[in-house]
This record gives sequence, C-alpha cells and structure tokens, in this order.
Amino acid sequence: MIDAGSLRKEKLFLTLLAKQHISPQDIDLIIITHAHFDHIGSLAAIKEICGCHVLAHPVEAQIMREGEVVIPPGTNMLGSAANCLGKIARPLLAFKPVESEITVDCEYDLGEFGVNGKILPTPGHTIGSLSVLLGNGNALVGDLAANLPGLTVYPPFAEMPDEIYSSWDLILRQGAQNIFPAHGRPFSINRIKNSLEKLNCFSYGMA
Ligand SMILES: [Zn+2]
Ligand SMILES: [Zn+2]
Repeated sequence: MIDAGSLRKEKLFLTLLAKQHISPQDIDLIIITHAHFDHIGSLAAIKEICGCHVLAHPVEAQIMREGEVVIPPGTNMLGSAANCLGKIARPLLAFKPVESEITVDCEYDLGEFGVNGKILPTPGHTIGSLSVLLGNGNALVGDLAANLPGLTVYPPFAEMPDEIYSSWDLILRQGAQNIFPAHGRPFSINRIKNSLEKLNCFSYGMA
C-alpha cells in the first residue's frame, strides 16, 4: 500500500478494501511517499488495523515519529495562498505519531514483498520524498507531480523547487511510462518529458 490518506479515513479505507476483496491482513507494507498530513493522517489507525510495517525516508520518518505537521511552501499563487490557510489550520491537522520500521534513502527493490518494482528517492516536493516505479512502467510518485485541472503537472507545493526537475529526469531515465500522482488522474510521462525539454537542461533524443 502507498500512503494512508488524510485524517479519519480508516473507515473509507476498510470499505474500499472490502470492495477489492482484500483483507487488511494481506497488506504487508505501507510505503510513505512523504510525511504531509494528507498522506499520513490515518496512518497510525491503518497500520494498527493491518498489523503491517511502515517504510519511509529517514527525514520523513523523523517527522512522523515526532508528529510534526508540516505545511509546505507554495510554488505558485494558489500554493502560497493554501500555505497561509494551512498554517492557520495547523492545529486541526494534528496526527498520531507513527514509527517506521524500515527507512530508505537509496534505491530499494520491492521483490522481497512480492512486488515487481522498486522505490526511488525523488526529492523536491519534500526532502525525503519517495516514488515507487513498477516493472510495467507505472510510477506512483506521491506529490512529485500533480494533475489538477487547468494547471501544469509541476506540483503547487515544493520544499526544493529545482529538485523536482532532477527527480522527474530520474524517473524518466529509469523507464517510467505512466505517472500516477497522489492528486489527480494518471497521465503519460510525455508531459514531464516535454516540460524538461523546454528547460533545455535535459535532452532525450528522438522518442
Ligand atoms: Zn505533499
Ligand atoms: Zn498531497
């Protein structure tokens, strides 16, 4: 499982799981793409229901251990406005601290969990952001990209704005075909490739 939703989503989680005929005990691992409240709000409850381990980057693991509510800086006007609102709402976003049994800060093969895929560190949205790249080319990238109506796929929030491009370059070179962002519908890697080529720092030859 990747990420665990915002606060009080455990009942919805159980409903959706039942629809897929999956038992909570079938989940061995929850991979956390990053420690923002909308990805870990229900993590403590869901971890307990599943009795599973949590995997995160050491930086994000520390945030979750301390229960720190991080409000990310905006990369555009929309993001900056949301950042201000988030700071006001911070006390409402408090989550139960969670311990991560596995911490990962380099490429990590998921074969031991029966998954044909790997974890890649993809900093930018946060310092310790992780992505999951499956063998079929599907990349689950958390908030490394977003697909929101009328906006580019560049995320509206980022702690390290320039690193977004380097991480995009990494997942592209690693063979990602389809991007599954945490916010919005999946989209083709071509949107990322085109954005990078416009920057002129990255070249991928003829497709
Ligand atoms: Zn985020
Ligand atoms: Zn998010």
